[in-house]
Order: sequence, then structure tokens, then C-alpha cells
Amino acid sequence: MLNPEVLEKLGSIVGKERVKTSKEDLLTYAYDAYVMEYLPEAVVFPKSTQEVSQIMKVASAYKIPVTPRGAGSGLGGGSLAKRGGIILCFTMMNRILEVNTANRYVVVEPGVVISELQKEVEKMNLFYPPDPGSANVATMGGAVQMNAGGMRGVKYGVTRDYLLGLEIVLPSGEAMNTGSLTAKDVTGYDLTRLICGSEGTLALVTKIIARLLPKPKARRTLQAIYNRIDDAGNTVARIIEAGIIPATLELMDKMIIKALEDFAKLGLPLDAEAVLLIDVDGDLETVEKQAALVADFCKKQGARDVRVSNSEKDNEQLWMARRGAFGAVARMRPTCVIEDATVPVSYLTAAIKKVIEISERNRVQIAVLAHAGDGNLHPLILCDQRDAEEMERVEKAMGEIVDYALSVGGTLSGEHGIGIAKAKYLPRQLSGTALEMMRAIKKTFDPLGILNPGSFLEYPA
Ligand SMILES: Cc1cc2nc3c(=O)[nH]c(=O)nc-3n(C[C@H](O)[C@H](O)[C@H](O)COP(=O)(O)OP(=O)(O)OC[C@H]3O[C@@H](n4cnc5c(N)ncnc54)[C@H](O)[C@@H]3O)c2cc1C
Repeated sequence: MLNPEVLEKLGSIVGKERVKTSKEDLLTYAYDAYVMEYLPEAVVFPKSTQEVSQIMKVASAYKIPVTPRGAGSGLGGGSLAKRGGIILCFTMMNRILEVNTANRYVVVEPGVVISELQKEVEKMNLFYPPDPGSANVATMGGAVQMNAGGMRGVKYGVTRDYLLGLEIVLPSGEAMNTGSLTAKDVTGYDLTRLICGSEGTLALVTKIIARLLPKPKARRTLQAIYNRIDDAGNTVARIIEAGIIPATLELMDKMIIKALEDFAKLGLPLDAEAVLLIDVDGDLETVEKQAALVADFCKKQGARDVRVSNSEKDNEQLWMARRGAFGAVARMRPTCVIEDATVPVSYLTAAIKKVIEISERNRVQIAVLAHAGDGNLHPLILCDQRDAEEMERVEKAMGEIVDYALSVGGTLSGEHGIGIAKAKYLPRQLSGTALEMMRAIKKTFDPLGILNPGSFLEYPA
């Protein structure tokens, strides 16, 4: 429970109704999409930059830990109050402030839900490409702080690639801006990109300026069905090698197919070992040509059937299913841990085989989903966190997947970040010097160590 004096001050900044302290309220903010839980002492909902600034001044004066939070869909425990204190929840700062069609950018508050932004700009024939599977709930602030990727990464990149600038509040309470409204900007160090992906450990994001693209005129979704998962993996590597750039290139294994069918009855083939979901987009003529080319490519690589959707409604239905994959699989066991190790795309097939081998050897049930075009594996590890012996095997399997990815030049995390879930693996990828440099950066932004303490980068160490 926070010092009553502090609660009083917080109440006077935002009003008592936006400071939550009841056990029921606190429990609601004690978890995200990872397996751990930490109870905060208060949850505060700011509505303006000025309020955020004042809250941080109080937190600094009393040295109270503050953990920022968007929708809490993060997969690494990043938005949990690991050291107690205040959860600063941005869901009430949710206005789209400007859509600038002349210069193709949008200015939003951090609590705007990604899919709401996408829908709004699409009405003006503009396009915000980053599209995490969680886009219907995740916020722009969370996406910036996690550098969220998603299904269109293979052609359009990730959140970082669309940021022009930010308004941030430092842990001291001082507000400042980074970047500019221009597409090009090389004035000094790129603080916008430093904040992007910093997992809420450096500063609070209170405004985001994001670049937009013209909306592609047409899109086709292809479903390539394989009897052998190796052929699906090889198709992905060959498509990329051949210089074809689909908008999305997703792989689902047989466990995912079955879970989706049980859940949504889409007519997916239950006897297949893998399905690739592939989108091509652009001008109508280019799209028709690319769809035919990709279909031909899949067949040559061993697809037993390739279905091309005929309408936007069919496209949507297939992608809704893909978005539902995590939920569908998660129903199978009490706990589902999502791995996110990423490999160079030419290692995709080898990596999938390795995951299968690790799963069998450790007797751990793993379903494989992948943003395959990016080499970004999402092994979904099904388990029961109440079973200590099983969780030991899960930990071992996770460590082995990470080690394999690193051994082929990959990374611990392609998009879900480190949080508390992967903090222990950091020294396997980063040198001591790199970690020290990161701590020095953390100290510069947050000398008191009050912002998201206990997360991946502890300061003081
Ligand atoms: C089913 C499912 C599918 C997913 N698919 C994808 C995917 O395809 N690609 C992908 O990249 N991720 C994916 N994710 C992970 C997650 O949705 C993303 O990381 C998302 O960007 C988190 O947004 P959020 O609003 O939920 O942030 P939260 O989980 O609330 O917070 C994430 C981090 O950002 C910090 N933070 C949040 N808001 C602010 C702010 N305003 N200022 C400072 N720090 C802040 C928090 O402290 C925390 O460290 C998925 C998750 C789920 C559950």
C-alpha cells in the first residue's frame, strides 16, 4: 500500500477516480500475457502529458517505482510492477490527434489501439503497416516500447521503421520531444529509435508521430498446404531468395491447424503437416501476377494444394483465423509460453526441425507458428505452470531453442522483447561491454532507477 501522502498527491493530480487501489482493481493489473504475476500498489490513469509529468515528479520525490502499461498484451512481463509501486496505465490517453494527408503522418496518444489507428487512416486511403497479432488490443505506446513487428514485417518492417518522432516524459518529470515531422532527420543521435524497443525502462511515451504509406490498392491471400513441414519451410526460404516480397508469409504447423479448426471451423486440412498463409499486395495487375507466381512457386516446392482467396471477405476470414491462433492453441493446456527466437531465414527449416527435436527430447508439447518470412519462430510451449517438474523441462527446452538461434547468427527475440521472461539469457547474446553501455544509457535517463525496475536491465545492477 502506498504512503497515504503519495496517494493524496496522485489524487490531486488526476482525480481520485483515476487512482485505483482496491484489491480487485490491483489484481486486474497484476498480470500480462506472460506467466508471472506481481501486485502493484496503485494503478493511475493519466489523461495528459502534464499529468504524466506531475505524477513522475511525485514518484521521483518519494523514489517510488513506476511501471508504464498499455493494454498489457506483452509476452515478457514488461508491464508488471516487479518492485511494487505505481502502474501508469495509458489506456485513457487514446486520442488520434492528427492525420496529416499532405505529409503522410499521424500524431497519436500512446493509448490508441493499433487496429483503431489502422482503420482510421485507411478511410483516407493511407496505410499504417505494422500489424502484430494483438493489433486489436495492443496500444501504440506499447508497440513503440516493444518495437512491435507482426505479420507484415517481411515486406514493411516493424514499428521502428514508421516512427518520425515522440513526445516523452523522463522519470524526473521533464517532458521533451525527439525527431521531427520530416521523413529525413539526422540531427544528432537518434533518440526516437533509442526509446523504441526500450521496454518502458527509459521514458514514458506521451505522443507518437508515425509515418504512413499510401494504402495498397489490392491484396490476395494464398493458402499453401503441405504434407511435409520441411517443404513449407523450404518454400519460405526460396521465395525470399528469389526476390519475391510478399506482404506476409506465415507458417502454421499441424497442431495449430487442428486447434484453429476446433475453434473456428475454417475448413483447414487436418491431415496437412503445415500451411503457409501468404499475402501479396500492391496494384491490381501486379497482385494478380505475384499471386500466380507465388502459387506456382509453392507447388514446385511441394505444396499439395494452393488456394487463392477471391474476395476481401475471404482474405479477412483467413487472417482473423491466424490472429486467433494463439488463443486457439492456448485452450489446450493451462499455460502457454510463447518463444520468439529468430534465425536468418535460410535456417528456417533447420530451426523448425530443431524445435521438434527439442520438444520430443524434453517431452514438452510445442506447436510451431512463425512469421516465417522474417525467420521469426513462435514456438508455443503448452504446459502447466503448477507442475514444477514440467516447468523445469520447459525452461530447458527454451534455453536450447535460444542457444540454437544464437548458434546460427539469430537473436533471443525477434519482436516480443526481453522483459523478465528472457533477462537471464541476455549475456548469451550481449557482451559485458554492450550490457555496461546499456546500463550507462539507463542511468542517464533514470538516475534514480524508478522506471520499470526489475525489468530486463537492472539499474543499479
Ligand atoms: C495473442 C498475441 C499476439 C501477439 N502478436 C504479436 C506480434 O505479432 N508481434 C509483436 O511484436 N508482438 C506481438 N504480441 C506482443 C504484444 O502484443 C506487443 O508487444 C504489443 O506491442 C504490446 O502492446 P501493449 O499495449 O499491450 O503493451 P504492454 O504489454 O502494456 O506494455 C509493453 C511494454 O511497453 C511499456 N509501455 C507501454 N506503454 C508505454 C508508454 N506509453 N510509455 C512507456 N512505456 C510503455 C511497458 O512498460 C512494457 O514494458 C502479441 C501478444 C499476444 C498476446
